[in-house]
Amino acid sequence: METTALYRPDTLRLRDALHEWGMQHIRPYAREVDKTKQMPANLADIRAACPLKQWSMAVADQGLIEGEAFYGGDLDGNYVLAAVVCEALFYCDPWAYGVLPGSTIVFKVIEAIGTDEQKARWLTPEAKKALGDGAFALTEPHFGSDPSQVATTARREGDTWVLNGSKMYCSDGSTAGNIVVFATLDKSLGNAGIRAFLVEPKKTPGFHVVRENEDKLGVRNWVTSSLSFEDAVIPYENMLGDPEGPARGLFGALSMLNDSRPLVSAYALGIGAASLQYFTDWHAQNHQYFSKLDNLRIEDEVRSMRHTLASARRMIYHSCRLKDAGQPSRFESSAAKTAAPQAAEQVCRRVVELMGPEGASEEHLVEKWYRDVKIFDIFEGSGQIHRILMGREVFGAGK
Ligand SMILES: Cc1cc2nc3c(=O)[nH]c(=O)nc-3n(C[C@H](O)[C@H](O)[C@H](O)COP(=O)(O)OP(=O)(O)OC[C@H]3O[C@@H](n4cnc5c(N)ncnc54)[C@H](O)[C@@H]3O)c2cc1C
Repeated sequence: METTALYRPDTLRLRDALHEWGMQHIRPYAREVDKTKQMPANLADIRAACPLKQWSMAVADQGLIEGEAFYGGDLDGNYVLAAVVCEALFYCDPWAYGVLPGSTIVFKVIEAIGTDEQKARWLTPEAKKALGDGAFALTEPHFGSDPSQVATTARREGDTWVLNGSKMYCSDGSTAGNIVVFATLDKSLGNAGIRAFLVEPKKTPGFHVVRENEDKLGVRNWVTSSLSFEDAVIPYENMLGDPEGPARGLFGALSMLNDSRPLVSAYALGIGAASLQYFTDWHAQNHQYFSKLDNLRIEDEVRSMRHTLASARRMIYHSCRLKDAGQPSRFESSAAKTAAPQAAEQVCRRVVELMGPEGASEEHLVEKWYRDVKIFDIFEGSGQIHRILMGREVFGAGK
């Protein structure tokens, strides 16, 4: 784990406590969860032992909650804390993601584009609790990167909206208490016709879970659902933003992904760091099987991989520090999202190669982490897409 002066002392105490908990309660179940695609049977005990009570986006929004205050007052800002939480937990294994509640994605969309009435209605602590964890349904069977392709439709009928269409790869889509769904009012209006709607699955006739969880390369227990809307009826006031006002639906809602990108980058970083440490330990046990020259070469590669991860880490924390200071950080957020998942993937791949046939064996978690790490360069915008976004920040296009 990183031991430089990147963080304040009490942040380090929190990180170390999470590491200790995760190595005891998360890492030992990593292979089982990958194979069964299910959480362990003793999840409640694992959760109860966790030093945190809510997940990283909630930490980013609210800081540590009461009861976690013993970590002291010399903590970093909320975004840096949240990134520390992400890296520390994913170092143990990415299945840690599902242990804690606190997906605030829907509330962030409401904050970004909701009317004053919608904020007053849905952003109180009681309302948030009643809505539960959220999901974000943008991707459809025919597109992901280019959101202007939304084909799910919304038509007004009296004091309701009627949704029709399909969504894919929706994280937590089949379990969420509330989902932000993007649909177009009129395809001929292009992006201006695309609006965000709050759907509460349990209260929505015509909402269907088509597939609970996709069979995936990695992060196999993460729930990634296919959903369909067949004349799904939701209240008129559940269109986020003012139906009569200027359309901020699509880009307003997407702007809040800027907040979660450094954290997604920290997930990948944790996996890369775990893989490299695993290899370093394995090599210490096995160095006698390599020639002196090979060992020197391997040591140099390990040094270089540590450097690669450290550079990515600094990009993540730079972007988080800007957020904590209330400064613009779109460029830095995309830069972190471009760099960290690819750096982590590169490290995971090289570790598998360096371990030879053992690297591909299920005996070792590096095989699993190599599969897990790929997703972080796909969702919330791939590296290619973020390079385009960075170019727009520099040259001003698309503002
Ligand atoms: C585990 C998982 C969870 C997910 N969770 C969610 C979720 O909760 N909500 C949601 O809405 N979606 C979710 N997604 C979908 C994800 O956001 C999309 O897969 C992603 O946006 C990429 O879209 P796509 O798969 O359609 O790829 P495409 O857009 O078809 O792109 C394919 C490839 O082409 C590249 N490419 C595309 N356009 C360009 C270009 N202009 N220039 C250069 N290269 C380009 C892309 O980088 C990519 O490598 C999830 C996906 C996965 C796998």
